[in-house]
Amino acid sequence: MEEVTRNNQVRVRFAPSPTGFLHVGGARTAIFNWLFAKNQKGKFLLRIEDTDPERSKSELSGQILRSMQWLGMDSDEEVVYQSDRITRYKEVVNELVESGKAYYAFETSEELDKRRKESEAKKIAYKYDRASLNLDKNIIEQHLREKRPYAIRFFIPQGVTDFEDIVHGKTTFNNYEIDDFVLIRSDGSPVYQVAVIIDDHDMKISHVIRGDDHLTNTPKQILLYKALGWEIPRFAHLPMILDEGKKKLSKRRDTVSVEEYKELGYLPEALFNFLTLLGYAPPDNREIVRRGELIKLFSFRRVNKKSAVFDIKKLNWINSEYIKSSDENFLLTLFKEYLASPPSPLSTFKGGTKAILPDDDYLLKVISLTKGRVQTINEFYEFGKYFFTDPESYDERGLAKHWTNDIKLIFKEYFETLTPQSPLLEERGGWNSASLEENLRSFAEAKGIKPGQLIHVLRLALTGITASPGIFELMEVLGRDTVVRRIEKFIGMFT
Ligand code: GLU
Repeated sequence: MEEVTRNNQVRVRFAPSPTGFLHVGGARTAIFNWLFAKNQKGKFLLRIEDTDPERSKSELSGQILRSMQWLGMDSDEEVVYQSDRITRYKEVVNELVESGKAYYAFETSEELDKRRKESEAKKIAYKYDRASLNLDKNIIEQHLREKRPYAIRFFIPQGVTDFEDIVHGKTTFNNYEIDDFVLIRSDGSPVYQVAVIIDDHDMKISHVIRGDDHLTNTPKQILLYKALGWEIPRFAHLPMILDEGKKKLSKRRDTVSVEEYKELGYLPEALFNFLTLLGYAPPDNREIVRRGELIKLFSFRRVNKKSAVFDIKKLNWINSEYIKSSDENFLLTLFKEYLASPPSPLSTFKGGTKAILPDDDYLLKVISLTKGRVQTINEFYEFGKYFFTDPESYDERGLAKHWTNDIKLIFKEYFETLTPQSPLLEERGGWNSASLEENLRSFAEAKGIKPGQLIHVLRLALTGITASPGIFELMEVLGRDTVVRRIEKFIGMFT
């Protein structure tokens, strides 16, 4: 099914148009190309389809390439830019004109609009009427001498065009439904169909793997290959990606750019894993499958025809699993990038606490305490603000529940055991989680209360919220000065 055609080497390409950022749908297409190339020990190539000068922006090409690099998919050969190849496209179209397979069409866009409107009024699907097809040679030459604007149209032969799509199976189109479409516009610019097939031919592409939205372009492209006598690549059209409302992912409603996922704190390997599952199912339906294994497993036999749903909860879960199993120094690098990226969350701190980036040792402790609970890199800060700044407010329900009259006096007494004046912690081994725990438990026992009663209040005083990692580890990381300062503030506010 996936056997290789040309020279027995798989050569695939990802061909984004730089009219926007790299979209997750585009990234998924790139991933399937990349995995197939690596699985088949072939080549993965990148081509920037920037023939539309109005819509293509060079900074967007750069951004797309950066997102591709971030996802770990570099081109195996030099990146091809269509804007460098316009002359080649025109040469090939001229060959088609010379061999009678394409022809000059002198209608102005106003004339064509008029004909289109007439068809619409009669409720007939508009199709170019081939009025220019049989113009006399002399007339054509005269028009050209007069420099009349013209387009070049492709003559669509009668019949059907079919191909064996690797995902969809046999796919057939009636040529009657295809217009004699324009190859070169009157401003001299070649259209997408032309540029694509010439590039795919020149780049010796063996398999064209792209989204389902291109399915109707394929018969047009096949007809062009045939007209030129060129070998036709294999085609695989991938299912669309829908959002949770079962609508096509939209820039307006959904977060779609790869760059944004990076900024939100997703790991490239997790996004890669997640996007692969949008349309591909590994043999045992596992959800965490790393890149190396995906390369070995990937096969179009397990690519679904049906649309896939972008489930953000699943992405969050996959990301949390990758975070849990990541090296802490790697997480540190990403976390520091996040903390330093403008506007730096640390620059918004008020008050006199740690307004500068804490040192690596401190950040590593934060990471190690919380990496089992976060879903994104940004959450190391968002869920762990208390590692960086004193709480400014306290959870009201938590206060009502835990800061009871019975506990107030006992808690104040407990607090005394933590101050530098008290010898108790030093006797137990200093400011570390083990002695802090021993200290709290024996204090609670002596008072005949449950340790939890103190722990809940401590958590509120130190974090302002009711959930945190282990309280004793937290106290160790925060250090005595911060713990004492926060408890003093808390007691001062609520007694
Ligand atoms: N440039 C086209 C796009 O961004 C892709 C063309 C193709 O893969 O054939 O949708």
